[in-house]
Amino acid sequence: MTKRNSNAGSTNAASFEFRSIGIISTPFKQKFGIPRQSQSISKAKGVIQFSSDINPVNACRGLDDFSHLWISFIFHENLQGGWKDTVRPPRLGGNEKVGVFASRSTFRPNPIGLSVVKNLGLNSKNELVVAGVDLLDKTPIIDIKPYIRYADSISDASCGFAEFAPDTMLQVDYSELARVKLNKLLHKHPDFEVLLQNILEQDPRPAYKSGTEDEKTYSVLLYSYDVKWQVREAINYVVDIEAK
Ligand code: SAH
Repeated sequence: MTKRNSNAGSTNAASFEFRSIGIISTPFKQKFGIPRQSQSISKAKGVIQFSSDINPVNACRGLDDFSHLWISFIFHENLQGGWKDTVRPPRLGGNEKVGVFASRSTFRPNPIGLSVVKNLGLNSKNELVVAGVDLLDKTPIIDIKPYIRYADSISDASCGFAEFAPDTMLQVDYSELARVKLNKLLHKHPDFEVLLQNILEQDPRPAYKSGTEDEKTYSVLLYSYDVKWQVREAINYVVDIEAK
């Protein structure tokens, strides 16, 4: 077995201390089910509440002119997990290894994530609203930068195992009970159906289950709801939606 390293630091590396500049609220209350990249869930909104020592109006002056942003954040739920120098990306079916630096693994020597999101601007509470987030609710944000098209986008870049967006697209269907409950909660969360569609059509099950049917009932937490679903043939079937 490969050794699991801790995030505690090492003797021959410089070490730095960062603090969060804010915390993001998102609909995703648990890691399971969150799409693996931000643009795969373009409707998912996040709201960044800045730390009290940051003046959002000053610090975000001019940001309105940029449609997209990079946000750097901490994989705060993985801090205890340590890291390994090789990982098995789900895109490779979970059985081929690549180096941690050739992957977007969330278990890294420095547990820092990077996502490109759409900028929806400051709201009336001076929180920054963004869309297309692949972040867990309450993730600490450590930096925000404008996305710069001429510098940040390289149209002929080659991308190894991530050359193309994943194509497992399951059809999503609802039981009568789940449909009734969904319709009721759409008043409170108008984006619920489209988010759920995005999550479930990408088959969030472990990679080795992809393309198979199984008996198990899975659950994903979205806002304060527990969505129960099963994969039947190529249909992701929502059995029930329970308020938590
Ligand atoms: N776009 C980012 C993240 C890609 S991985 C990057 O490339 O760095 C996306 C996965 O990160 C999600 O599926 C979710 O399970 C996980 N994730 C999101 N926020 C997290 C957090 N705060 N702690 C641990 N894992 C998190």
